[in-house]
Amino acid sequence: MFQAYFGVSYADARARFIAAAHKQGCSLRSYVNTAGPGIDGEDLSTDVAYYGDAQARALLVLTSAMHGEEGYCGSGCQVALLNDQPLLDRARDHGIGLLFIHALNPYGFSWGHRTNEDNIDLNRNFLDFSQTLPDNPHYRTLHSLLLPATWPPGPDNAAAIKEFIDTEGEQAYREGVMLGQYSHAQGLFYGGHTPSWSNLNLRGILASYGKNRERIAWIDYHTGLGPYGHAEKVFVQKDPAAYDRAKSWWGADVVSVVDPDSSTVDIGGTGLRALLEECADVPELTFMALEYGTVPMDDVFMALRGDRWLAVQGAVDPGRRKAMKVAHKAAFYPDHDDWRGAVIGQSRVSLLQAINGLSAG
Ligand SMILES: [Zn+2]
Repeated sequence: MFQAYFGVSYADARARFIAAAHKQGCSLRSYVNTAGPGIDGEDLSTDVAYYGDAQARALLVLTSAMHGEEGYCGSGCQVALLNDQPLLDRARDHGIGLLFIHALNPYGFSWGHRTNEDNIDLNRNFLDFSQTLPDNPHYRTLHSLLLPATWPPGPDNAAAIKEFIDTEGEQAYREGVMLGQYSHAQGLFYGGHTPSWSNLNLRGILASYGKNRERIAWIDYHTGLGPYGHAEKVFVQKDPAAYDRAKSWWGADVVSVVDPDSSTVDIGGTGLRALLEECADVPELTFMALEYGTVPMDDVFMALRGDRWLAVQGAVDPGRRKAMKVAHKAAFYPDHDDWRGAVIGQSRVSLLQAINGLSAG
């Protein structure tokens, strides 16, 4: 039954989301991205559905596709909640409004990239661009190794990367790659030089719907890191009281990015900043990213590097291109019912816990 919540393409996921939101009588707004059309000629749009009392004191926000093709997972969880009458009733009965933001990065979702129409990683794009941008010297060293002239990379390439890790350390490698970089516009994990369309759009949505609330919680759905089907509860706020609250709601397995156990690194420029800035008047803000594991990290990373390599190449054999795109999609959306079941089950628990947390006090 979970299959029905998940789209097979961006356009299909969007249609399922809009149909489910209509069925529940949600108010709906669409924000069309002019970088369209999408891969099937469709409009590219971030769609926003609101369920519950417009004046509710508490708000629970769910977002999908911060990272383009990761959107299948978050979209499925959003549609699942729109079909979950007991949870919807519980939220409404406790004075909680539900804000579904579908496809923050519709371009990447549609075209099968993690990044947006300008190769921007949205979760590295929420910075103050009037300030000097962070430098990532390890990325500078790694760039040409990560995106070599020929693909797949040969043994020399693997040896050179291994040498970097042996010399600089595993943490330097992870940070070099994942921390984000602002020097190579065609590179991996590029954060941009200006606020992207999706950044400004998200800010506007949060400012508008977050106004006059007393408490806001936000769950942002991601995929690609950690064990298959497991949702790591990633906490990125720096406020210790918010961390305590997040653990009291969601459990002892909430992992702060500064904890050594986390699969992620403490990146700057995440979307959290939009919430902290646009809803600064709201007394209580609680954010968690759910990061679902897919395939082994080496495979995810090869798929990401391959997708970037494809994007900067001119002509690539169509069969080969297709195989690489299939591998990329599988790295962020394993097309298996056991995975979908694990995703929906853990999402439902986190949503119930968020509703309970927002109801308390
Ligand atoms: Zn992500």
